[in-house]
Amino acid sequence: MIPFTYTRPDNIEDAVRAASSLGSAARFIAGGTNLVDLMKEHIEQPAHLIDVTHLPLKQIEDANDGGLILGALTTNSQVAYDERIQSRYPLLASAIRAGASAQLRNVATTGGNLLQRTRCFYFYDTAVACNKREPGSGCAAMHGKNRIHAILGASDQCIATHPSDMCVALAALQACVQVTGPQGTRSIAFADFHRLPGDQPDQDTTLRAGELITAITLPAENFAANYTYLKLRDRLSYAFALVSVAAAMHIENGLIAQARLALGGVAHRPWREPEAEHLLIGKAPDRHAFGLAADRILIQARGHGDNDFKIPLARRAIVRALEQAAAGIPQSPIDKRIN
Ligand code: SF4
Repeated sequence: MIPFTYTRPDNIEDAVRAASSLGSAARFIAGGTNLVDLMKEHIEQPAHLIDVTHLPLKQIEDANDGGLILGALTTNSQVAYDERIQSRYPLLASAIRAGASAQLRNVATTGGNLLQRTRCFYFYDTAVACNKREPGSGCAAMHGKNRIHAILGASDQCIATHPSDMCVALAALQACVQVTGPQGTRSIAFADFHRLPGDQPDQDTTLRAGELITAITLPAENFAANYTYLKLRDRLSYAFALVSVAAAMHIENGLIAQARLALGGVAHRPWREPEAEHLLIGKAPDRHAFGLAADRILIQARGHGDNDFKIPLARRAIVRALEQAAAGIPQSPIDKRIN
């Protein structure tokens, strides 16, 4: 047992002040569905825990621009089954329901979902080298069992993937992350929130010291008619994505007027490539156009041995997800089979 202090502030200002004064040895904790596991495995050993569960961040509210504001402490279940989310942002509801288990979704929070760490086997094994856990020690996955690892955006320091489903939908929807820190509040575009590993794989996000996620804002644009979240994995439940695809579009007069495409399970962050989306604009929603978009988003994909299969798998998944989105027949979150 590693001793740590525990504090439970009642307001955002006190929480940020505590994080600022306690420094890098402090962690915010809410649902704890990832952090507690990491502490049990001695991957994370914070000297101070700041319990944020009493902060007033548990509401889903209408935004002035027609979007929605998800408090950082809303649970994954609360969001997935909220009537406004189901009717206006079904892509998000579908992605959340594809992740974890009902028990975990009942406890895990929106803010925490963004901060969950990779499920790389070696990250959780303190007996082997891992640059993310211990910078400069090496990467056991590079020439090890890397079936679940990245095919896009990896570095020679780390080939881990981000495990979230929810974040893939938030990337496609172009959500924003609202944070409060010692220097005040700021809004971070979702595409800028998660980092690629580069030469600092221990850094997962662009959060600054002492910053607390307070909300996720969803823009009014919701793609409620033509969307799908397709998740491919080794078993139908309680498994992380080998490849997942959030696909959404607007179709006007038989042509694609807007398109969004984000991939999960393939990179250190939800993966988008604007040029692949631009390729679809003005095109008929057919397999040929979808194949060209898939080729574009995967143009720099590279396997590391065990995970080579992900490249053709991702191409087929992208085409299928776009076809389902165009047809207005999203992947069922209940019947998860791929026919
Ligand atoms: Fe560690 Fe990243 Fe290598 Fe996994 S892929 S062992 S998390 S450095």
